[in-house]
Amino acid sequence: MEKNPVVVAGGGPVGLVTALALARQGVDVILLEGEEAIPRDLRAGTFHPPTVEMLEALGLGERLLQEGIKVPEWQIRDRRSGVVAQFDLGVIGDRTPYPFRLHCEQHKLSHIAYKALRQYPNARVLFSHRCTGFTQDADGVTVAVQTPAGVEEIRASYLIGTDGVRSTVRKGMDIEFEGFTWPERFLVFATPYDLREQGFTGNAYIADPDEWCAIFIQPHEGPPGIWRIAFPIQPEMEEEKVLSDEFVQSRIQGFLSPEQTYEIAYRSVYRVHQRVASTFRVGRVLLAGDSAHVNNPLGGMGLNSGIHDAVNLTEKLVAVLGGDQPQDDLDRYVRQRRQTNIEYVQAITIRNKRLLEERDPQVRRERLDEIRELAADKDKARTYLLNSSMIESVQRASQIQ
Ligand SMILES: Cc1cc2nc3c(=O)[nH]c(=O)nc-3n(C[C@H](O)[C@H](O)[C@H](O)COP(=O)(O)OP(=O)(O)OC[C@H]3O[C@@H](n4cnc5c(N)ncnc54)[C@H](O)[C@@H]3O)c2cc1C
Repeated sequence: MEKNPVVVAGGGPVGLVTALALARQGVDVILLEGEEAIPRDLRAGTFHPPTVEMLEALGLGERLLQEGIKVPEWQIRDRRSGVVAQFDLGVIGDRTPYPFRLHCEQHKLSHIAYKALRQYPNARVLFSHRCTGFTQDADGVTVAVQTPAGVEEIRASYLIGTDGVRSTVRKGMDIEFEGFTWPERFLVFATPYDLREQGFTGNAYIADPDEWCAIFIQPHEGPPGIWRIAFPIQPEMEEEKVLSDEFVQSRIQGFLSPEQTYEIAYRSVYRVHQRVASTFRVGRVLLAGDSAHVNNPLGGMGLNSGIHDAVNLTEKLVAVLGGDQPQDDLDRYVRQRRQTNIEYVQAITIRNKRLLEERDPQVRRERLDEIRELAADKDKARTYLLNSSMIESVQRASQIQ
């Protein structure tokens, strides 16, 4: 074992899971979080079966299952004609003990992971500590940290950047963040109005050339939960107008009832991207989660893939630190996770968005017919669900050498 700790920069869900996976294996780890407490981040709310399996293996499954809502069925709908297809994850019950999407706000996973991490004396979590840069040599990494008491340096064996889309660590690696940013932003708001009354399953995607949307139930403050709805916002619209009661009501009334005013619990606007870093490793510095790749939320894959990174990377890093593998085995992490992010996460989420927003009536009809047909064919539905539930991408990654 090297004597210096592994420093993980960024205490979002991916950083916390990364630090926990290392601490459980006896690795000394320091987690730096720029904020003064765990951020109440509401972005991610869907955990796919392989992610629940990984979190279970880290001892977090039971709490997450208690806090979350199991969503075994989800729909693709057309705004005008209604349900196009309804998928049942029971079809892949032979491939996972968790044949459902587990819906739970991402900050709840962060709290569960933080609580578990605090049990390990070899792990330290430093809030209000922001990584501002690093230098590295053959023996380690010197991490610059802005602390409440001023700038300090920490000598690390390895630095893992889990510091999100604007990652300081990635910028310090001087690599490209390849891809693009969508011109439209996403308005996300939540209502306690129970959409099951209208025949919705806990997760649904509604196709429409102008006002497509995604719906997912979240536990919020406990049963019966709350419904989060995401709509596209055209680039020219001002954020203030987008967040106004009038605009938010117009969106929800558009697909429910224009006669009713709906209670809105919260609302925010997000910019969305499709980007993958040109590498996830430079020497002793590595990336995982949003610092390494970002995608649109249609399909709920961003955080899930970040957790898949965390588990894959920490397994390899533990073997390198223990002297069982050479340092270059970390490149296998990069090959496995970067390639599958491009082949699966980027491809599937872009395809999902194109399906929902298609403007050409004929192409739109053809695509929705394809989905209708595959949902009706058990073998095709199974293949589709193995991809959309991320089981295939995790298996594919394990086959890459
Ligand atoms: C509307 C929306 C819905 C989404 N829904 C889903 C979903 O259902 N399922 C899914 O899988 N994904 C979803 N995502 C994506 C998901 O939110 C992200 O992939 C996830 O938050 C990434 O986690 P992370 O820990 O890598 O980064 P973050 O959650 O961004 O955490 C980064 C952390 O690093 C800290 N930090 C930043 N800079 C520094 C620094 N220099 N030093 C120290 N700390 C620093 C930040 O304060 C933060 O706590 C959604 C995204 C959006 C926009």
